[in-house]
Amino acid sequence: MKNFKMRIGEHWSDAKSGQRFESLNPYTGKHWASLPRGGAEDVDAAVRAAHHAFKHGPWSQMTATQRGLLLHKVGDAIAAHAEELADLEVRDNGKLKAEMLKQMRYLPHWFYYYGGLADKIQGDVTPFDKPGIFHYTTFEPLGVVATIAPWNSPLLLAVWKIAPALAAGNTVVVKPSEFSSASTVLFAQLCEEAGLPPGVVNVVTGFGPEVGEPLVKHPLVARIAFTGSESGGRRVYENAAADFKRVSLELGGKSANIVFEDADLDDALKGVVTGIFSATGQSCMAGSRLLVHASIHDAFVERLVTFMQDVKLGDPLEATTQMGPVSTQPQLEKTLQYIQIAKDEGARCVLGGQRSKRPGTEHGLFVEPTIFVDVNNDMRIAREEVFGPVLAVIKFDTDEEAIAIANDSPYGLAAGVWTRDLKRALEVPKRLEAGSVWVNAYRLVSYLAPFGGFKSSGIGRENGIRAVYEYLESKSVFINPTPGVENPFVLG
Ligand code: NAD
Repeated sequence: MKNFKMRIGEHWSDAKSGQRFESLNPYTGKHWASLPRGGAEDVDAAVRAAHHAFKHGPWSQMTATQRGLLLHKVGDAIAAHAEELADLEVRDNGKLKAEMLKQMRYLPHWFYYYGGLADKIQGDVTPFDKPGIFHYTTFEPLGVVATIAPWNSPLLLAVWKIAPALAAGNTVVVKPSEFSSASTVLFAQLCEEAGLPPGVVNVVTGFGPEVGEPLVKHPLVARIAFTGSESGGRRVYENAAADFKRVSLELGGKSANIVFEDADLDDALKGVVTGIFSATGQSCMAGSRLLVHASIHDAFVERLVTFMQDVKLGDPLEATTQMGPVSTQPQLEKTLQYIQIAKDEGARCVLGGQRSKRPGTEHGLFVEPTIFVDVNNDMRIAREEVFGPVLAVIKFDTDEEAIAIANDSPYGLAAGVWTRDLKRALEVPKRLEAGSVWVNAYRLVSYLAPFGGFKSSGIGRENGIRAVYEYLESKSVFINPTPGVENPFVLG
């Protein structure tokens, strides 16, 4: 068993209560890590440390250029420890090592990008409309930012928040998921080694109600950046509303991957498989609804089933494994429940549809890759997020119908469009209610490209230049250089 501590100010701490909790390896079915079970007192200590660092620490005295250079060093430290970070994540969430390593090797770019941006956040002088008045706008950091992340891409999703928040001059208290905290704890150590002053990055481990709630409600927290479930997001939004705290929410999805009859079907097949079965379906942007044109439906589904039935399930650390376990016991139960619901509602299961009985998967939380056809968009399997390796296939006849089905969802996180027709490639994305649309691609993300959801998929955007303004407050300064002169334009 590996023992971890939390990072609060300049200390590596246990929980004040002395309690700990354990994290399960979903492949072996055994607990592998022990972490402090934080509570409200630990949250208070971490927020106060972050607040002190923001107001009085060396961080508050640094120029934006100095801050940016430190962020570069954090990026370098992540790059140097990518393999170690990936190993920790695989043990916690069972995702493929290959995918986690790719993520960890890409992660430094968030620090390079936002580190570079730190000293390019400029205000402006306004050509003011009232004579004699000098007006300018500046941008100021908010203070303590709370970041709350889920278990599926633990560090990536935390860094999407931490990098722009720090570039803007804030300090952070990071709450990782109780299912996957280890990589975030190592990240805090890397921040320390890279030279971030104490209190700039704090990590409190523990459960949503015990750490997340008091963090969101803490009076010294100015902003909350949350990624997680719809129910978690709703609770965070309600609690944050009490004090009008700034909030961004990245929530769930039921994204449509639309294959038109003129698509390159080899590419589309790969895109559909990547869309739903990568990460064992545990991706917010999973293409969990496959919309296929009626003229190619049967042949395409047949190819999909043939391809997926040979996929190798097994140890996520093995390079030859193609699909790992689902990450958590609750997620396993939820996935199996949705499979049953789909069967009960009349969808036809053409692949999988059960817990895996394959040799080598018996100790882990494995579900067979599952495909349902004869799905209509009113079924729960088409409306609700499963967050597992379950694909719902829906047939359509016209472009209008495909767009209507895709948009008929409470969610609006992402969508895929597969076509060789330039007009469709331009027109369809315009009409889809989704924060990200990929044409002849799926699951692409970048530090350069805004990411977030329409409708119940969330509020706000992460990544790209504008994300940094989500961690800044603008200030309008009006200077009357000739006091005493009556100003006839004052309104009030
Ligand atoms: P979750 O909501 O259960 O937990 C997410 C985080 O919130 C955890 O750290 C948890 O401890 C914390 N939390 C729970 N209750 C809280 C509360 N009342 N106050 C404060 N914090 C609280 O979600 P999960 O099961 O860990 O993650 C899966 C969900 O995340 C899926 O719905 C998925 O779609 C979503 N997700 C969204 C994105 C995106 O960018 N849109 C990315 C990945 C995952």
